[in-house]
Amino acid sequence: MDLLKKKILEEGSVEEGDILKVDSFLNHQLDIAFLNEIGKEFKRLFSDKKITKILTLETSGIAIASITAQYFNVPVVFAKKIATKNLDKETYESDVYSYTKRRTYKIKVSKKYIKPDDHILIIDDFLANAQAALGLIDIINQGSATLEGIGIVIEKGFQDGGKLLRERGINLKSLVIIDSLEDGKITFR
Ligand code: 5GP
Repeated sequence: MDLLKKKILEEGSVEEGDILKVDSFLNHQLDIAFLNEIGKEFKRLFSDKKITKILTLETSGIAIASITAQYFNVPVVFAKKIATKNLDKETYESDVYSYTKRRTYKIKVSKKYIKPDDHILIIDDFLANAQAALGLIDIINQGSATLEGIGIVIEKGFQDGGKLLRERGINLKSLVIIDSLEDGKITFR
């Protein structure tokens, strides 16, 4: 997606530890007109799939999942990262190791929102080692729902997540794949 590549080159910055910062449009300030274009692109890429629900992870996935859901006319469910008193006790849970925070945390989704007749599209901002994606897939499996695909805004192709998911036969579509962030230079595949 050329528009996204241009935006990353113009506004993105490379931080220590191979972290790409895109706070001006995706992870802090949200450029809604631009995110709408991303939502339309996900709709185009998964238009042949019967999607009943979009699943993401709080916090950074919520904005892009919500924008995308408008084009599918389906609800968004976001996995919660910590135990809160408000959450239904009847939850599906999984463990996720965070690459950016370097710690493992629990994610939870109420059993009310994942049902066996659901056809689910996972949407997230970044794919690195696929820890977040694997946690969400685990929850979908616990709910006996069907995973229809995974849509990622920015895949870091130099980390193993994409390979791992594609080898499992998962319908993974990334809008851009970054091959390297070496020396602060962003190289696309
Ligand atoms: P994974 O679970 O695939 O290892 O990592 C994906 C998650 O880590 C994403 O949900 C995202 O929040 C975060 N992440 C991984 N790499 C980056 C990065 O380079 N930049 C930002 N902003 N987040 C990242």
